[in-house]
Amino acid sequence: MRSLVLVGHGSHLNGDSAGAVYYYAELVRQQGIFAEVIEGYWKEEPSLRQVLKTSASTEVTVIPMFISEGYFTETVIPRELGLGHQGPVPEGGIARVIGGRTVRYTLPYGVHPKMQDVILARAREVLPDLDRPEVGRDTTLVVLGHGTTRNENSNKVIERNAAALRERGIFAEVHALYLDEDPKVGTWPERVGAKNVVIVPFFASEGWHTQETIPAELGLTGTATLFTDTPSGPQTVYYTKPVGTHPMIAEVILQLAAEASQARGGDLDRTHAESWRLLTRLAHGGLRVGEVLISPYSGLLELRHMLDEGRPTTDLLTYVTPEGLRDRVRQDDAGEYRPVRTFRTLPRGWRAVVDEADLRRALHYIYPAVVEETRAYTCHSLRATPWPTTARRQTGIYAKVQKASSAQVEAVAQKVCAACLRTRLWAAEPLGQTFFDGVPGGIPCAEACTYLVAAVRDELSAEKSPEKQDQAKLEQA
Ligand code: SF4
Repeated sequence: MRSLVLVGHGSHLNGDSAGAVYYYAELVRQQGIFAEVIEGYWKEEPSLRQVLKTSASTEVTVIPMFISEGYFTETVIPRELGLGHQGPVPEGGIARVIGGRTVRYTLPYGVHPKMQDVILARAREVLPDLDRPEVGRDTTLVVLGHGTTRNENSNKVIERNAAALRERGIFAEVHALYLDEDPKVGTWPERVGAKNVVIVPFFASEGWHTQETIPAELGLTGTATLFTDTPSGPQTVYYTKPVGTHPMIAEVILQLAAEASQARGGDLDRTHAESWRLLTRLAHGGLRVGEVLISPYSGLLELRHMLDEGRPTTDLLTYVTPEGLRDRVRQDDAGEYRPVRTFRTLPRGWRAVVDEADLRRALHYIYPAVVEETRAYTCHSLRATPWPTTARRQTGIYAKVQKASSAQVEAVAQKVCAACLRTRLWAAEPLGQTFFDGVPGGIPCAEACTYLVAAVRDELSAEKSPEKQDQAKLEQA
């Protein structure tokens, strides 16, 4: 039994930012190679602190879904997963035993050598005759990177791909150009003499740059733009979609996972399996977990909002796969994104009918890691992480939360956590019984979540604002 965990950035504000990871997880899941494919995020749930707990396997491969190496892949993700590693990840990845699991952490997908095939696939989409020698001879490829002075590795991957594709001899020339640094993409007319120019953005997703700034800067009018006044005469620029949205990324993921995981086998984690066996047994008798009611239904299990108990099924939207449900519960009834899944804002008006095998995935989409953490609490093996420890772990723009006083943290938590179903063990709040004992809201919070950390940071920033300082002076006067 092997599990694959795909890790993305996510967002507290924008639910769409998790879409790419969900998409690739689904493509890989369809291959049936892994016992489970799980999504995890830095700024969304399941968080990096939770995600390993949601895995049922003792062999877990974690792949960062980033286009290049950098702060997140080298600092944040290893730290939050508890890998005990900081800095560049070696080519073969990192393997650690964490909580009885062998966790293999790989390089981000964007640096895998197979990405040159993805670039090529993008080029063929806009120029299907590319492999005919007379077309290739008249075509120059531009691998377009963002370019940044903060991370030289992101440029290295562009140069490496350009060099590898040059070697393959398909194109007359291959250039590595950048949006934000030299050599800039806007200089292509001075550099390229070929009749056809294919520009492939080495970007993770469609967005402001790929859809607006690049076309605007180059004067592109669509997939193919004819330029008649360039120094080399008429030239057509073919502009492709970014590499990061190509379905071939799923193959890159599988390749990375295969390379990372030499050892096979391993038993299901016993504690994990026992937790779910117990939950499934309780569910067949009717169980409430947070705001969710689970009931037996024709040999299957039905999940719905507890306030929809007794509502005719014809009034409710029915999901028969966990993935359908996933997209519904990420928004509340007003259509607002729910950054913390245990906020008391679970939408109403739906039901999901799943078998026992899918129950775990369905419940993870609603409340990630809640079953595992709650079971660990009832077995006295869940350790709370005090705020100072969480604060000390923060780096970058979040490091300032280390300066927050206990009173400031508590004031923010009073506001934020009041909307949450969890009970803050890290602030020594008593929990007592849990949903395993029939108390639906008995859900532990072992550690301040990233949403709360961000709220503490915002509070400190607001304290420094001129308005706040004026107000404080007025209050003192
Ligand atoms: S820190 Fe507060 S908001 Fe975040 S999960 Fe814990 S209880 Fe909920």
